[in-house]
Amino acid sequence: MGSVSIDGICPRCESENYVENYHYSTHENYKMCYDCGYYTRVVIKKDENKNYILVDESKGLEFSNLIYEEFKNENPFGCFRIEYLGGNSEIGTLDTENDYNDFVSDFIPSELVSREIKEVIVSRLVENSIQKEVVFSLNP
Ligand SMILES: [Zn+2]
Repeated sequence: MGSVSIDGICPRCESENYVENYHYSTHENYKMCYDCGYYTRVVIKKDENKNYILVDESKGLEFSNLIYEEFKNENPFGCFRIEYLGGNSEIGTLDTENDYNDFVSDFIPSELVSREIKEVIVSRLVENSIQKEVVFSLNP
C-alpha cells in the first residue's frame, strides 16, 4: 500500500471533516478539510512526462536527490462537493471568491450539459462557523 490516512481536526476551522494522507514510499503527504477547503500538499517535483526531477542526474532515486514542492492554501474561500448520479463525487477547494464565481456561473452550468448531477454544495468558513450553500439540487 505505502500510504495511510489519518482522520484529524482542521487547524483552521476545527472541523473533524479533515483528512491527512501520508505516502510512506515517497514521503509525499496531502491534508485537506472538506468543510472550509484548507489544504496542504507536499509532492515530489516531476517533469512534463511525469518523471521525477533529480537534483543530481548521476545519482538515483534516493530521497535526498528528489525535489519536494509544497502547495497550500491556509485561508481559501471554501470547499465544493459535487455529487453525481450513480454515486461518484468530487471534492475540491475554491481558492478565491473569483474561483467561486466561476464555479457557480460557468463550471456547474457546463457540467450540467454533459453529466447528471444530483447535488452541488459549497461550504465555507464564515465568522467561525461553517456555512453550507446548495448551489444546485436535482430535487429542490
Ligand atoms: Zn477546515
